[in-house]
Amino acid sequence: MRTRFIVGNWKMNKTATEAVAFVHRLKQELPSVEGIQVGFTPPFTALHATRDALASNPAFLLGAQNLHWEEKGAFTGEVSGPMLKDLGCEFVLVGHSERRQHFGDQDTWTNRKVLAALRHGLRPILCVGETLQERDSEHTDAVIERQLRAGLVGVDDQGLAAVTIAYEPVWAIGTGRAATPQQAVLVHRMIRRIIGELGGADRVQQLRILYGGSVTPQNIADFLSFEEIDGALVGGACLDPLSFATLVRVA
Ligand code: PEP
Repeated sequence: MRTRFIVGNWKMNKTATEAVAFVHRLKQELPSVEGIQVGFTPPFTALHATRDALASNPAFLLGAQNLHWEEKGAFTGEVSGPMLKDLGCEFVLVGHSERRQHFGDQDTWTNRKVLAALRHGLRPILCVGETLQERDSEHTDAVIERQLRAGLVGVDDQGLAAVTIAYEPVWAIGTGRAATPQQAVLVHRMIRRIIGELGGADRVQQLRILYGGSVTPQNIADFLSFEEIDGALVGGACLDPLSFATLVRVA
């Protein structure tokens, strides 16, 4: 039985002050959270304040939206694994489609980032997903397979056990047009099969695969009614504490 995992990706939203207000309000709405993990990826500038505000609930996990693969050095504007770990991060998003689209995070970089996260004790959430054009031209499976295999080069069995995959069709992110649960399930099954082939055969049943793309408090139950879907990566619906609390309650 895999523990459900709901991750709120704040993207470039919320100052540190706003983050603290959000967490306090969320905690009022969700005084106890059990049997599910809830992750938050604030901007780097709000990680510290969010960590302090979240403290004391083991169901709440702090994560980052990105990392650089080097430990330190002349990489202006970047943040490394040890820096995130030191701040209390437990996981990190890698290869989010906005990173791939706007910041040049191609497969080689996502692989370096996955390896760096594992090296520094951070659980990577590797994001994969096809564009609308790729889906319409029936390239979804090939794209997902390429992103997975390339992103996980050099990750051994132990590493795979720490990895989470987020299937996020690019056309569903921030568009209000979620995939159907049936579309997601087909891709989730393929992801589990590929990871099994990559060498994680005995661990693949433990692998968590999240769906992301216009998840709301209204549609989360439909996704989670399928055993293949272990949780969600949520953008827009995680920014308001009431909406996010409702979504977590339903999950
Ligand atoms: C995301 O940012 O990963 C995401 C899925 O966003 P949204 O829920 O807004 O589609």
